[in-house]
Amino acid sequence: RAEQPILSVNNIEVIYDHVILVLKGVSLEVPRGGIVALLGGNGAGKTTTLKAISNLLKSERGEVTKGTIDFEGQPIQAMTPHALVEKGVIQVMEGRHCFEHLTVEENLMTGAFTRGGDRVGISQDLEMVYTYFPRLRERRNSLAGYTSGGEQQMCAIGRALMSRPKTILLDEPSMGLAPQLVEQIFEIVKKINEQEGVSILLAEQNTNVALRYAKYGYILESGRVVMEGDAEMLRSNEDVKEFYLGLS
Ligand code: ATP
Repeated sequence: RAEQPILSVNNIEVIYDHVILVLKGVSLEVPRGGIVALLGGNGAGKTTTLKAISNLLKSERGEVTKGTIDFEGQPIQAMTPHALVEKGVIQVMEGRHCFEHLTVEENLMTGAFTRGGDRVGISQDLEMVYTYFPRLRERRNSLAGYTSGGEQQMCAIGRALMSRPKTILLDEPSMGLAPQLVEQIFEIVKKINEQEGVSILLAEQNTNVALRYAKYGYILESGRVVMEGDAEMLRSNEDVKEFYLGLS
């Protein structure tokens, strides 16, 4: 039988404020070492799906009211966001979320918050992050608030890497960035996936780019998966082309 997926979301429902039903039974799987795209327009439910997995809905008054979420075959819904990071599940938020008043390097160090006194490991990983993102090494002593949008996105991904994740939930990394920079960041994400074996669940409105880097994709509309399949199939599908790729 096929290998067990590292992450599996089974028919989850999410309600905000006790009444607003936003996810209406979403199921998806991320294979170990895979890159999977979660696609769909504004408000389709991509961010909500990622936050349901990383248990970040509470502060938004959101709640998973149905379904199950398993990581490495274990249910994770009762785990705190902190415990999830320790387990290897981390989310990189949309809008980047670096601490503006900390330097780039201090931001990266905050990513190691679950690792206590592992000083040798942490400094090795800092080196690893700088190897993937040479630009961050150059900017290591700059306040994050004074770096560019692309650098902040790199910093946010680098910070996530500092927790030694097994799976990164990456929310709209392309947002607000020039196409060339988007490409550069996706190339690095792909390298991290290949070389570190980190699985990636990638929420993107930029379908075109996402389907070039992901192997498999799910398309969300109004809180439901309306289509799923191999990236190549989705890219050549006429409906996907018309509604999401802007090619026809
Ligand atoms: P975007 O690209 O804008 O982030 P998305 O696909 O990630 O879109 P979500 O942010 O998950 O979509 O939002 C899905 C739906 O849930 C939208 O209709 C949104 O208005 C609603 N929603 C999101 N957060 C809340 C909240 N805290 N309270 C009530 N409704 C919310």
